[in-house]
Amino acid sequence: MRCTQCGQVGLEQGFVSDSGSGARGYARWFGSLLERGVIGIARTRGLPQWQIDAFRCPNCAHLELFAAQRLNLRR
Ligand SMILES: [Zn+2]
Repeated sequence: MRCTQCGQVGLEQGFVSDSGSGARGYARWFGSLLERGVIGIARTRGLPQWQIDAFRCPNCAHLELFAAQRLNLRR
């Protein structure tokens, strides 16, 4: 994979962590506009969600984000 910022080849694969209360340890991408509930928390129930894979460029530190893997919906 090539860095879209500087052209370096050989990006390091990783992920974006979410360590907030009740989080699963990784950040997710939701296929929807953001809607907030009564206390300002994003509504995510029932939305299509995808794992975020993050590739870091060792040359310029740019992150390339991909959401290729669909996650199962849990109710
Ligand atoms: Zn780069």
